[in-house]
Amino acid sequence: MPKVELHLHLDCSLSYAAVARLDPSISRQQYEAEFIAPPQCASLADFLTRAPRGFQLMQSRDALRLVTEDVFEQLGADHVVYAELRFAPLLHLAEGLTPENVVETVDRATEDCIAATGIEARLILCTLRHYGEQQSLETAQLVERFRGSRVVALDIAGDEAGFPIDAHIAAFRYAADQGLSRTAHAGEARGAESVWETLRAFAPRRIGHGVRSIEDPSLVEHLRRERVHLEVCPSSNVQTRACRKYAEHAIDRLFRAGVSVGINTDARTITNITLEEEYARLREHFAWSDKELLACNREALRAAFVEEPVRARLLSAMEAFEQAAQ
Ligand SMILES: [Zn+2]
Repeated sequence: MPKVELHLHLDCSLSYAAVARLDPSISRQQYEAEFIAPPQCASLADFLTRAPRGFQLMQSRDALRLVTEDVFEQLGADHVVYAELRFAPLLHLAEGLTPENVVETVDRATEDCIAATGIEARLILCTLRHYGEQQSLETAQLVERFRGSRVVALDIAGDEAGFPIDAHIAAFRYAADQGLSRTAHAGEARGAESVWETLRAFAPRRIGHGVRSIEDPSLVEHLRRERVHLEVCPSSNVQTRACRKYAEHAIDRLFRAGVSVGINTDARTITNITLEEEYARLREHFAWSDKELLACNREALRAAFVEEPVRARLLSAMEAFEQAAQ
């Protein structure tokens, strides 16, 4: 099945092969212990303690390129036809790269990978919850500076429960004023009130996760009516305890309620999962068939931050697959 994946962190999705090339001293055993989190962490904050292992290895142009190529290989194995990769440029400055160097390197690598694999992709730049106002604004300004490249949107990621949104209001206001696309992590480590707050303060077209919206029926109705797309990552949510177990995940109820949802891996390394595996779990726990999975892919494509001709081309390829499968 041709798939669309909108929520994927570049720096949390390094295969062992890539890690071993970046640092041959890291054994597979060490990779499994330090890069991959256990099936259930104590919290999102606990889950996020694995993230530095990835970005610490991504501090040079060569390393950023290698990791981008590695992710495209994983996308190819999952039959992804369109992906949006996200990363926080300011996490890659430890060895002297400037934020512009970082974005330009990932952008060029993405361009080359699109040409080499035929997989369409765009980039989202993340600010992080614990950043100050200036860092957040700098990240938003990078999205503007790279307008016209593969960089298409601003996101906020990181520890939702540990840090409020206040320091990021200026960045999202700037992005809105510049007409930049926006998504935001919310409703993962905190409940529906965090999603409301994010919608009001950042006015994003999409929400990263957003699964705890299910706690407030009026919010579910609002999301449905306003067609706010939720980038859902079920296995990651079980791992961070946003939900107790897979069978209780809100994706099925949100889907049945008519909310626009898509299926994503979030952090392929930390969660130790592929998109194919995520689809298999949805089939297993909710008896989802191709029908539901295809509908999610169509919704994700409708919500993608991509130019209309590309969206139209990918939609018709998806419809051709659906017709052939019937
Ligand atoms: Zn995420």
